[in-house]
Amino acid sequence: MTTILVVEDEPEIRRFLRSSLGAEGYRVVESENARRGAIDAGTHKPDLAIVDLALPDFDGKQLIREIRAWSPMPIVVLSARNEERSKIDALDAGADDYITKPFGVGELLARVRAALRHAVRPPTGQPLALGETRVDLEKRRAWRGDAEIHLTPVEFRLLSSLAKHLGMVVTQRQLLTEVWGPSHAEDTHYLRVYMKQLRDKLETDAVRPKYLLTETGVGYRLVADEA
Ligand code: CA
Repeated sequence: MTTILVVEDEPEIRRFLRSSLGAEGYRVVESENARRGAIDAGTHKPDLAIVDLALPDFDGKQLIREIRAWSPMPIVVLSARNEERSKIDALDAGADDYITKPFGVGELLARVRAALRHAVRPPTGQPLALGETRVDLEKRRAWRGDAEIHLTPVEFRLLSSLAKHLGMVVTQRQLLTEVWGPSHAEDTHYLRVYMKQLRDKLETDAVRPKYLLTETGVGYRLVADEA
């Protein structure tokens, strides 16, 4: 049985998480502060942790660092709207994704599934299915229907970085460091240019992307159709 640790001080949100996750067959362990969360993470060895950033005793980011020191378990952060800086800090501290409050059950379960899937099954050589477009990252080839699409080496590297975290957010800094190197960690305009190019080539409607998504102020997320 898949166990999910929920570290959240607000009882209504805990109740919502317990009932939504419980209905899907997950076992839920609840901690109402960070100290308790650190203990429960060690004793229950959950498959995934959902961590609120604003906790009464110490910061959620510190809890994430503590868990990361000994466990690779996926961590999804709960944050309030307009907390871009804390979301980025949490992702840099080792969180895998975040959900912004208020959130619905559909979004919650999608994030949880993506993070669990990522943990048990690292990205394979399977081509990515993005609507009519297919991308084979290993062979470095892409097609729309039968027509081959030309992607540049940088476009492939950017797409590969996103695909490593399929379904989850990747910060601007992570992408810039992985694709262009640490000296370009602040050059966010590179991302705007190259993400536009990728959308023009891969999306059916580049203005309303369905697969190459922007997480405003934080980074980008690649989603793909289920294989
Ligand atoms: Ca809170």
